[in-house]
Amino acid sequence: MKPTTAAATRSIITAAGRSDRIKRLSGRLPVTRNVVQRFVPGETHDDVMDVCGSLLESGRMISIDHLGEDTTDETQAERTVQAYLRLIGMLADHAAGPNPTPPGHPMEVSLKLSALGRALPRHGEKIALENAHRIASAATRAGVWVTIDAEDHTTTDSTLRIVRELQSDFPDLGTVLQSYLHRTEDDCHAFAGPRSRIRLCKGAYAEPAAVAFRDKPDVDAAYVRCLQVLMAGDGYPMVASHDPVMVAAAEAMATAAGRRADEWEHQMLYGIRDSEQLRLARAGRQIRVYVPFGSQWYGYFMRRLAERPENLKFFLRALVSRD
Ligand SMILES: Cc1cc2nc3c(=O)[nH]c(=O)nc-3n(C[C@H](O)[C@H](O)[C@H](O)COP(=O)(O)OP(=O)(O)OC[C@H]3O[C@@H](n4cnc5c(N)ncnc54)[C@H](O)[C@@H]3O)c2cc1C
Repeated sequence: MKPTTAAATRSIITAAGRSDRIKRLSGRLPVTRNVVQRFVPGETHDDVMDVCGSLLESGRMISIDHLGEDTTDETQAERTVQAYLRLIGMLADHAAGPNPTPPGHPMEVSLKLSALGRALPRHGEKIALENAHRIASAATRAGVWVTIDAEDHTTTDSTLRIVRELQSDFPDLGTVLQSYLHRTEDDCHAFAGPRSRIRLCKGAYAEPAAVAFRDKPDVDAAYVRCLQVLMAGDGYPMVASHDPVMVAAAEAMATAAGRRADEWEHQMLYGIRDSEQLRLARAGRQIRVYVPFGSQWYGYFMRRLAERPENLKFFLRALVSRD
């Protein structure tokens, strides 16, 4: 697919992702749920803990995301906090149990500030900060890392403000930067200092050309430039990409920068390039799998469809055959 067509496809699917009608219809079709399970292993805490137990035993690390964005009231934000607190308790129990886990910090939770109330009309940013602080306190006590996800570009300044606040109490708290944004190379310089943990991804939202590169070669070139900044810096780079070119570039840059295997990590999404994840783990690399769970899978699922036409074809075929 040509780069411009790919950007247009992403915009159309992302727009469909905002349609309540399509959302309601998809949710009612059992086949949708079967396809969704490829990317979202389940809706409950027990579902996600089962999958994560197996990933940890295979030598992979995990980052768990409780799905939910577009939180519209404080009660919903509070439910998200409670879901994370329960999850962190279960992760602490797992760590204390007999099951094998990789060394280092194998367990992490990923948070979306929109799920914690950032978009609430009154004091949204303050509420999201307080909620994230409660989760980070519990996670720190349990030895679980926390990373704040990146959402669309209108939220980047607010996310980085909240991250800076949280880092004064939790210096190991990580965040995500998206190489498709024009601003990100500068943000990488600002966040490449000691103890900073940055997950670098290409970016999953349909963004306007005024703020983002829209053609794949430009996004890829920006990814390489940003990764060079992070690898040469004093922080801990987290290379979130399934792209074989970026995986190989990260390996070469880490070697050139003299980084030990435990001074950076690869990251991939659950259900994508599983055999490559295992290959990296067996080669002694740190590889973390991002595992989303929960009933609000729709937005996440639509982003996975939008970024890869093969995923969309797979979904449409399943809808037509209804098996
Ligand atoms: C751990 C993690 C966390 C993320 N967090 C965020 C976030 O907070 N905010 C955000 O905006 N985005 C996030 N993303 C999504 C990210 O921005 C990209 O949209 C997504 O990872 C696709 O980009 P890519 O680098 O994998 O490669 P792409 O440019 O999509 O693909 C390049 C190549 O990778 C390989 N590949 C890609 N997908 C597949 C597949 N399904 N099967 C087989 N091969 C494949 C193919 O060879 C393909 O040609 C995250 C991604 C990861 C891995």
